[in-house]
Amino acid sequence: MPLKVLILGVSGFIGNRLTEVILERTNWEVYGMDMTTDKISGILSDKRFHFFEGDITINKEWIEYHIRKCDVVLPLVAIATPALYVQDPLRVFNLDFMANLEIIRAIVRHKKRVVFPSTSEVYGMCEDPEFNEETSNLVLGPIHKQRWIYSCSKQLLDRVIYAHGVQDNLNYTLIRPFNWIGPKLDNIMDPKEGSSRVLTQFISNVIHGHDIKLVDGGEQHRCFTYIDDGIDALLKIIENKDDCASRRIFNLGNPENDVSIKTLAHLVLDLIKTYPRYRERADKVSIVSVDSEKYYGKSYQDAQARVPSIKMAETYLDWTPKIDLKTALKKTLDYHLKHPDESLTEEDN
Ligand code: UDP
Repeated sequence: MPLKVLILGVSGFIGNRLTEVILERTNWEVYGMDMTTDKISGILSDKRFHFFEGDITINKEWIEYHIRKCDVVLPLVAIATPALYVQDPLRVFNLDFMANLEIIRAIVRHKKRVVFPSTSEVYGMCEDPEFNEETSNLVLGPIHKQRWIYSCSKQLLDRVIYAHGVQDNLNYTLIRPFNWIGPKLDNIMDPKEGSSRVLTQFISNVIHGHDIKLVDGGEQHRCFTYIDDGIDALLKIIENKDDCASRRIFNLGNPENDVSIKTLAHLVLDLIKTYPRYRERADKVSIVSVDSEKYYGKSYQDAQARVPSIKMAETYLDWTPKIDLKTALKKTLDYHLKHPDESLTEEDN
């Protein structure tokens, strides 16, 4: 019998690409729920993809029924945009923690396997040169720094899931994506500042002719990981050959792609200049520094570095990321700047 995979948030950045790759490479059946179909229009008619338009906080019967019916569940619905952690922390808690807790409890009741998205944010301001899933401390700031509500919500769910593993034999895998990037991450046509993750924000700024802003000078580092590398790991985790992923936590990131945000800004701007249609606009864009308090507000606090140890994934999944930063940026830019639906901006009209 082909594996039945339930993906909640199937039209999200990870969900849509994961489903495409599952349909391409395996004989698995995918049952998916999301509130929108924006990112999945190309696969909606696939016979092995069963889509339901719904909301995880409302359509609880559909979810319970499908948890029973499927072999493995990926609850991917979450807010994962730092600007929202400080603007609407309770919404982050209600969705990322409360709504997902109910889903975890249903998975435990039906004795199913779960692959749950933890996050590289759980390490917070940890100063280890490489974050290790089993030994690194999870370091968060004071309560008034509301940025950490996402990290804290995810950490608590990690702990709940782990405890169910110990007490109820829950078969889980926790994944920790490190700044995954690629097509369909955020809507680059939304010119609103702080509405998306850093790479999409920078692309959006340039195509709208706005300056690129480096928060507090942009000396902070991130390891950017191309989505398809992450998806390769996810496929191995879902397949779970010889139980290789069971009851384990995996950092999924590319330690080779460690750059400062300032370097990222220069790379993105220089690359956009190679697209003739955007060259003139990119030439006018400057890279400027902005105070984090001004950009995000008082309750923001940043992580200065975030490098994964990927020994666990190498050892148990036989996985290493392959796509270097420049290639990842080029693939993402090609998608956005050559995509027919997205090539026009207001300024073009
Ligand atoms: N950042 C920036 N300019 C922007 C948006 C983000 O300098 O216009 C910085 C942000 O302060 C953080 C880094 O880029 O240090 C990565 O931000 P992102 O929103 O992608 O997520 P994070 O890695 O913090 O979860």
